[in-house]
Amino acid sequence: MPTRRPLIAGNWKMNGSLAFVDEFAARLAELQMPENVTIVVLPPAAYLEPVAGALRDQPVELGAQNAHIESAGAYTGEIAPEMVRDLGAQWLLVGHSERREYFGETDEVVADKFGAALRAGLSPILCVGETLDQRQAGEAEAVVGEQIRAVAAMVGAPAFAAGTIAYEPVWAIGTGQTATPDQAQAMHAFIRAQLANVDAEMAGQMRVLYGGSMNTENAEQLLAEPDIDGGLIGGASLKADGFAAIAVVAGAMASSGDN
Ligand code: PEP
Repeated sequence: MPTRRPLIAGNWKMNGSLAFVDEFAARLAELQMPENVTIVVLPPAAYLEPVAGALRDQPVELGAQNAHIESAGAYTGEIAPEMVRDLGAQWLLVGHSERREYFGETDEVVADKFGAALRAGLSPILCVGETLDQRQAGEAEAVVGEQIRAVAAMVGAPAFAAGTIAYEPVWAIGTGQTATPDQAQAMHAFIRAQLANVDAEMAGQMRVLYGGSMNTENAEQLLAEPDIDGGLIGGASLKADGFAAIAVVAGAMASSGDN
């Protein structure tokens, strides 16, 4: 079984300010950060450059929450993935449930963004997850399986393998209602089995993160599960102390072999 380096990513959503960026970076600099964890912050696009500057001496990578499919052109108000890369980002979130719900992003759009991220030299993090209605109707695996299958089919297996998956049950995002470790592990194992159907090596190597009200209280139990390779953290990533503490837990579990 290959070792997958844990990844802890903080999605700031539409939060923050220049003052917040300075405070966050100053506090993070005072904290111990694990060396065996990839740590990523995903600020709003307007703050990519200030965050890159403020965190330049820290072991933290930068990502964007969204980008357009094209590299340039008449798309008023949009930002190209190449521009995001230009500002120092290495990661791009695609298919977050808030983008799917509020901005009508279909699997096709999500697949195009996944491909656009790779073209620009960004590493895509593909978010998938079912709604509460879908879970209660027993459709969770079918929904998540189709979200993955659709993107993998459109971008092709070798390109897909370069990404990361984040399983984020929609009912757990921003609600404080986290999936139990058993629920999360069951879906992560299902996702890994879907990947194995395409390519066994890809299934062993791709990281599958959990997202949905992960915090300092529940991170250890979730990260102890064998198929959970890290976290995509919204609300709790806005506090430098809590965010760093989750990364420390991920690092400790990886070095103890508990995950
Ligand atoms: C998210 O926005 O991806 C997320 C998981 O949010 P929260 O941690 O606040 O549920």
